[in-house]
Amino acid sequence: MEVKVNFLTGEEMELKLEGINPALANSLRRVILREVPVMAVDELEVKFNDSALHDEIIAHRLAMIPLKTPLRGYNLPEECKCEGAGCPKCTVTLSLSKEGPHTVTSGDLQSSDENVVPVSPSIPIVRLEKGQKLELTAFARLGRGKQHAKWQPGIASYKYQPIVRVDPGKCDGCGECVEVCPPGILQPSDGKVVVGEVDKCILCRMCEKACKRRAVTVSFDDSRFIFRVESHGSLKPEQLFLQAVEILAEKCREFEKLVGKLEEKG
Ligand code: SF4
Ligand code: SF4
Ligand SMILES: [Zn+2]
Repeated sequence: MEVKVNFLTGEEMELKLEGINPALANSLRRVILREVPVMAVDELEVKFNDSALHDEIIAHRLAMIPLKTPLRGYNLPEECKCEGAGCPKCTVTLSLSKEGPHTVTSGDLQSSDENVVPVSPSIPIVRLEKGQKLELTAFARLGRGKQHAKWQPGIASYKYQPIVRVDPGKCDGCGECVEVCPPGILQPSDGKVVVGEVDKCILCRMCEKACKRRAVTVSFDDSRFIFRVESHGSLKPEQLFLQAVEILAEKCREFEKLVGKLEEKG
């Protein structure tokens, strides 16, 4: 597999993957969504809650706050020596104690580990009016997106590499295709039309339908992919991709071993 980075920011990444098939591209996408572990609030002890929201709603809001997640240092609860009971090797404590008038936000959570904190301090949790109080302890643990959406670390998607061609011998420069192209990648040039940033093509084929002279053709290459990762902030997008590659490789090794055992038996 050849990988080229189209762009990379703190939250988003676009790659060009070449020399793989749709099954592998889709496996990488699914592993990012479902298998890469990140931290999320999983349990709550509420001491006081005079706010307008029930404990369960507060718990739900806390669980959906993305938490920065170190790549090493914590065990998955099911793999921890405490067997999921909760210990410093698998659990981070986030404490909160506030009185109104105050809008409680993610920034009010005090973490037992400075490396496991909300991705943003300004996510609203609840509004406390004068005389109202909220005091609680939340416990965050590693988990996977396939268990609950709160552990889904981001969004991953891909599309086949678009191929858009304009036949200059047939094109009369009428501009119909330019008008209908949603991302605006077809541009007039010297009485004809040229293709701009083809990676932005969404393969809608509106240009083909609009062209009465059949001068424009749209196709794709299913061995090349434009692969996009958007992180919720727990891990960087490149970490999500690399973790997914490692996890998928490990799954393949396990599968190979199981097939080997079956062959020995057979
Ligand atoms: S619609 Fe067809 S003929 Fe008209 S500019 Fe586009 S490609 Fe050329
Ligand atoms: S297929 Fe759609 S997005 Fe792609 S060039 Fe044609 S009109 Fe534009
Ligand atoms: Zn533990």
